[in-house]
Amino acid sequence: MTEDLTAAERDELRRDLVALCESLASTLAGLDEGAQVVDLDAPIGRLSRMDALQQQSMAKANRQSMTARLTQAQAALHRMDDDEYGYCRACDEPIAYKRLKARPETPFCLACQAAAEHR
Ligand SMILES: [Zn+2]
Repeated sequence: MTEDLTAAERDELRRDLVALCESLASTLAGLDEGAQVVDLDAPIGRLSRMDALQQQSMAKANRQSMTARLTQAQAALHRMDDDEYGYCRACDEPIAYKRLKARPETPFCLACQAAAEHR
């Protein structure tokens, strides 16, 4: 069974989460500035219309996954304030520190995450 987080581990993960939120938020803000809707009637240089559309949809997917991660990171900080951080939201078991260190925003333990992905 996984051990509960120590106070030092929790503090470190809180710092990681705050840093993650800041970096995602600033990346997203940068994307908003850079994202211009492709005008299909305008001449778009060496990019073909298809390339431009593909880039646009990739940028959109990228932004969606970053937004989702930011939301998770913010939710994780709230759980920390409520003293619920570090426990799997599906099975209530403590989540391994190593996993939280790699993805501090994760709401699930490895087993539940794997189960969800294979469903
Ligand atoms: Zn779990």
